[in-house]
Amino acid sequence: MKGARGAEGAESRAIAVVIPSGLRPLAGGAERALVAAHNVGGVLRELERRFPGFAAELGGSFAVAIDGELHPGAAQQPVAAGSELHFLPPISGGAGAAQAAAGGRVFAVPHSIAEAVALLESHGANARVLAGGTDLLVQMRSGLRPAVLVDVKRIPELQALRFEKEECVIGAAHSAAALREHPDLRERWPGVVEAAELIGSEQIQGRASLGGNLCNASPAADTVPALVAAAARCEIAGPGGRRFVAAEDFCLGPGENALAPGELLVALRLPLPAPRSADAYLRLIPRSEMDIAVAGAGVSLALDAQGRIAAARIALGAVAPRVLLLEELGRALVGAAPDEAALARVAEAARAAVRPIDDKRGTVEYRRHVAGVLARRALAIAARRAAAKGG
Ligand SMILES: Cc1cc2nc3c(=O)[nH]c(=O)nc-3n(C[C@H](O)[C@H](O)[C@H](O)COP(=O)(O)OP(=O)(O)OC[C@H]3O[C@@H](n4cnc5c(N)ncnc54)[C@H](O)[C@@H]3O)c2cc1C
Repeated sequence: MKGARGAEGAESRAIAVVIPSGLRPLAGGAERALVAAHNVGGVLRELERRFPGFAAELGGSFAVAIDGELHPGAAQQPVAAGSELHFLPPISGGAGAAQAAAGGRVFAVPHSIAEAVALLESHGANARVLAGGTDLLVQMRSGLRPAVLVDVKRIPELQALRFEKEECVIGAAHSAAALREHPDLRERWPGVVEAAELIGSEQIQGRASLGGNLCNASPAADTVPALVAAAARCEIAGPGGRRFVAAEDFCLGPGENALAPGELLVALRLPLPAPRSADAYLRLIPRSEMDIAVAGAGVSLALDAQGRIAAARIALGAVAPRVLLLEELGRALVGAAPDEAALARVAEAARAAVRPIDDKRGTVEYRRHVAGVLARRALAIAARRAAAKGG
């Protein structure tokens, strides 16, 4: 752990201890402490000496993560100089919260957002949110080793689905399968629902959540272009309270999202569509079953009383490190009829905007071409759906 030595003039045995958030008041608010010890017992004795009552508050059933690796909290567990040590105390005070140390890691099941945020905050990089697990478990099989899994599926707000005056609120842990079954959603956002329906298989959709699809931040994630086209807002909770981020600003690049340490995605908020409006999502995969998109296009469109385009949002997936929202194209289409000329314009603008990779699924040229075709077709479908609504 860089900086562990020398920061307090501590000698070569210095270990950086991250104080759990619940015990920080005992430690005068300190988030970290440097101690000199050889093992967990020594660390604990030193902390107890400095912060009387620390060990009693921590309790007897804690585990420790040493440089990200989980160990039972055995006193004789060696801790090398320069390590970073996290105490993983049992969840305290949370009604119904459960925790089990299984398979070498702590599995926490908070029942409220406050509990989840406290866990994420106190365990920092050692903790990972688990929703459906369809991305996370694959990553863990490939070597990712979070010491603490925070299962957010029991938090009611993350499972909510409700219509407010101006928005539909979809809890981040809501599964793709549950979305599919909701008639109002399909009626108002057929594009978002068809994107969710494309995730993996029926079994995968039973677990996979919208929030997980976004937070995983794969450039090829299917629901992200559809959510961006639908102008969704991401509701985020963290140690500093709630904040909102537009869906197009949430995924920053492959595997990178806009969440700060200690934050979790609570919900997606979709503005209620205007009367003559609809959306659509299309993707192309190289194989017929369960593959990653070579390109995807989400379009949301509103028509005016004369059938001209009143508003349009066109988002492309899998053709850049993050979803591309073609804002200029959307503005340029306002006032146009959704005719052949408009469709050609959309295809051309999409082809010009992409920055795809070249890999076994498709060359740059192929992806460029497919993006143009999908954008054009998705706009045509959205326009047909919007026109069919009349009103
Ligand atoms: C066989 C298979 C096929 C697949 N096919 C597709 C496909 O066709 N299209 C597609 O887009 N995806 C596909 N996926 C990927 C995956 O199913 C989706 O990305 C899914 O939506 C992830 O949701 P989850 O709930 O399982 O997320 P998890 O695996 O639980 O989490 C994914 C990541 O997001 C984080 N996270 C989850 N929820 C939150 C939250 N509320 N707040 C903060 N962080 C959070 C987790 O810590 C983790 O880093 C496939 C996966 C498999 C295994």
